[in-house]
Amino acid sequence: MVAAEGSVLRVREMRKSFPKPDNAEVRTHALDTISLSVAAGELVSFLGPSGCGKSTLLRLLTGLDTPDSGELWVGDEPITAPSAERGLVFQDPNLFPWLTVRGNIEAGLVARGVLREKRSEVDDFMRLVGLESFANAFPHHLSGGMAQRVALARALINHPKVLLLDEPLGALDAFTRMRMQDEVLRLWQARRTTMLLVTHDIDEAIYMSDRIVLMTPRPGRIERIIEVALDRPRQRNSPEFLNLRGDILELLHFAGDAH
Ligand code: ADP
Ligand code: MG
Repeated sequence: MVAAEGSVLRVREMRKSFPKPDNAEVRTHALDTISLSVAAGELVSFLGPSGCGKSTLLRLLTGLDTPDSGELWVGDEPITAPSAERGLVFQDPNLFPWLTVRGNIEAGLVARGVLREKRSEVDDFMRLVGLESFANAFPHHLSGGMAQRVALARALINHPKVLLLDEPLGALDAFTRMRMQDEVLRLWQARRTTMLLVTHDIDEAIYMSDRIVLMTPRPGRIERIIEVALDRPRQRNSPEFLNLRGDILELLHFAGDAH
């Protein structure tokens, strides 16, 4: 059993707008007054139609961009710049095609100048995501699910306090996707990393999350936060699961504008 690696995350009255591409005097309110606390080791998903600011929120949490106003904290530290303590995994695994699986997982350590001291962990993380026999394979030989395992291992090897997942399973077929949901849950349970998962798949949100943050667009806002009080592992066809699914569908429908 691994000690909890996750940290508390707090967002206070955060706003973010962008100039419209065709008219810089008009601004798009991507996020309007977002306030949220996530507990250490919690798995929270952000669910909502495209354009409701999910990716903007994750990018602000990485520190790659700054809000117009408001505060972002991980533990006791304000987020002011990118850090390996906040790992990000996207829909596109973005592997280096000229590096092997091992090389790709090592790449983050190389960038931080800690490869020598951390090299022994590379094997541990390849094992953790079930890729030990693919250490010397190149990305073009990997299936989509395997490539995402590499991306997850590459993020986890930095021992992030928060793992930010922006539709990481969005490009996978339905069966691989369900298997990878179990895989991400296993990693979460093994490492107790605080995880924020962006998805527009209602079932994925219910299957995985402690809480679901329902978002609506124009401006991007938190519509409601739903606690998922179902026992794990969850049964995708249990009456409780299907009830919750029906409730969320209705909420999203009445929130309007879904596309
Ligand atoms: P989601 O991930 O939920 O689909 P995004 O965070 O990508 O939503 O976008 C939220 C809103 O902000 C959208 O209206 C989008 O067009 C706008 N937006 C996001 N990033 C930029 C940017 N860099 N420049 C201009 N507008 C942006
Ligand atoms: Mg997005």
